[in-house]
Amino acid sequence: MSCCKVELNSGMLIKRDPHTGALYKACGHCSDANGTEHVFHRYPAQFGKTPARVTAANPDGHQSYCKDCRRLSKGVPSNVYKSGVLCSNLART
Ligand SMILES: [Zn+2]
Ligand SMILES: [Zn+2]
Repeated sequence: MSCCKVELNSGMLIKRDPHTGALYKACGHCSDANGTEHVFHRYPAQFGKTPARVTAANPDGHQSYCKDCRRLSKGVPSNVYKSGVLCSNLART
């Protein structure tokens, strides 16, 4: 693990831009495509929330994949991970 100690395909990681304070969340699929570092997108704008996903482990019902990744067919790698923000550029919340 090169960036932090969280599993690379975790979609539960939320961080903050140290300059603007904006929230970002890791996309498990984009991080997978990067291969070494978590890839983040603006949260909730690039993810959305759905009440159908609310569970004890996911009380906010947030999506683990960004909107663009959720549109992909199964097995197709992320094509938006290069537009994301890398883990090392963000601060822990
Ligand atoms: Zn990380
Ligand atoms: Zn993604």
